[in-house]
Amino acid sequence: MRNLILSLLLFSSTLLAAQQYDLVLEGGRVMDPESGLDAVRNVGIRDGKIARVSTEPLTGRRVVQAAGLVIAPGFIDLHQHGQELASQRVKAFDGVTTALEMEIGAPDVAQFLKSKEGHSLIHYGSTASHAAARALIFGTPLPPEVINPRGGIPEILPKSGPATNQPATPEQIKQIQQRLRDELDAGALGIGMGIQYTPGATRLEVIDMFRLAAERKLPVYTHMRSFGRGEPGSAIESVEEVIGAAAISGAPLHIVHINSTCLADTLDCLSLVEGARARGLDVTTEAYPYIAGMTEINSALFNPGWRERLGIDYGGLVLPDTGEHLTKARFEELHNSSTPNSVLVFANTQEMVDATIPNPLIMIASDGAPGHPRNAGCYSRVLAQYVREKRTLTLMEALRKMTLMPAQMLERSTPARKDACGKAPTRTSSFSIRRPSATAPPSKNPWNRA
Ligand SMILES: [Zn+2]
Repeated sequence: MRNLILSLLLFSSTLLAAQQYDLVLEGGRVMDPESGLDAVRNVGIRDGKIARVSTEPLTGRRVVQAAGLVIAPGFIDLHQHGQELASQRVKAFDGVTTALEMEIGAPDVAQFLKSKEGHSLIHYGSTASHAAARALIFGTPLPPEVINPRGGIPEILPKSGPATNQPATPEQIKQIQQRLRDELDAGALGIGMGIQYTPGATRLEVIDMFRLAAERKLPVYTHMRSFGRGEPGSAIESVEEVIGAAAISGAPLHIVHINSTCLADTLDCLSLVEGARARGLDVTTEAYPYIAGMTEINSALFNPGWRERLGIDYGGLVLPDTGEHLTKARFEELHNSSTPNSVLVFANTQEMVDATIPNPLIMIASDGAPGHPRNAGCYSRVLAQYVREKRTLTLMEALRKMTLMPAQMLERSTPARKDACGKAPTRTSSFSIRRPSATAPPSKNPWNRA
């Protein structure tokens, strides 16, 4: 009898433990774009994971009353350059719990991951940088001590010069590929290619990078080759180039900020993505809800001809800190400087942005870095402008663009890497989207000098 009572006691305490969650979100409107659930529920979270979604009351060590609020998965930003603490903080306020540097990639993935370990507020990760690999092989590596003065993070874009503008020899292409393989082994989530920042890269070099990604079953994230309507070298041709490379190689392709490259032709560019997908190609894309872009003024993006390609003049370039509109003389001074300086680029129209964001192919990704409001407000702005004001998106559709679609994109990296790990078990620790540290980090690492 005593034994029975004891086991009953043990049984009931086990039951109680099973029902106790670390955190309970009580009575919120739970919205899950994957299952379509949109109802008032209680959410039990244990060990950082959603353990239960229920109509029944749940008990937790901490209970947050969520009545009148929406509970959704954390937003995943595939395109976030600002990886320092100040940016991570504002990302979290914008709903982002995972912010990855996928467009260009950190110049040294091992160093980046090490610098973030235990010093990150949200999940982080990076692609392997083709631009940095190319600079390294051309003998002008991106030095970690070159810090973007405003962003407080190491510069990811090379200054326009031989390493960006000259074609690589077949031998150099092999060396770039080897560097990228090493970066993938160090934990990179795919290949990042800013083709417009390395205009010397030939079509064949681009295809060879896609072939490397295909070899690892990993995607290529790319900022495409060119803006504008002038042929050759139009935005349409740029989309064709990367879709062609994906078709030839078999690598999944993610076109970053299609609105920022295709400008007035964005809907036509989207129709190319749609056509490629309809024929079975794994092609995805993203956009941010602003008319201005931002990039480094000494990069190859501003090589001669940029005004014609962008359809703007010097005055369309604005320094974010001062609001100064550039003149020809000021542009030349900054473009020729070896100090990186970000510049806002006013090249888009509100009409185009409004037509792009609701398109079902578009994921939301911020391209965030300090100096542009998209670093802090990208996701809130989509919810405010397109869900609440213009009503061109439902809340569920917007959440799908911010959570499920990027998560499904990242599945291209995770299972592929798991396969690779199956063949080479020693590498199992090298891959993951890195988890944030539990506490606020007292970091002195170079990614954290804001
Ligand atoms: Zn870009």
